Amino acid sequence: MSSSFCELCGRPATDGKRSVLIDSTVFNVCMACSKRGKPYVSPSVGKRKTASTTFSSRVKPQRIQLTDDTVLNPEFASLIREARIKLGLSHEQLGARMNERAILLRKLETGALKPDEVFAKKLERFLGVTLYKSIKEDE
Ligand SMILES: [Zn+2]
Repeated sequence: MSSSFCELCGRPATDGKRSVLIDSTVFNVCMACSKRGKPYVSPSVGKRKTASTTFSSRVKPQRIQLTDDTVLNPEFASLIREARIKLGLSHEQLGARMNERAILLRKLETGALKPDEVFAKKLERFLGVTLYKSIKEDE
């Protein structure tokens, strides 16, 4: 195997080859020669997503934007209540489905409690309602 020889000294790299950077060139060298350059970490070793990151500049990072353009609908209490009734569920039943406490849902429906973003998203999913609305739609 030709690959078993050090690219610097030419000796068989019996103790395993190292990839090092010397003058921004990658050499596969023996253990002794590896001290002459900087350790080179292959991109495929450090990052497994080399292929996809090549085009990553086109892809915007996935961010859930709730705070910028959307606000909690002030009618959220009645929205939740109506959606729940439409589904024919009691607080307890809905709570059980959502793995939340019924008392929490009661408080939401009276407006005593405001759902945070995560909880609102959960309610939207379970009830099929939109609790967060875009500010832009009101313009
Ligand atoms: Zn060598």
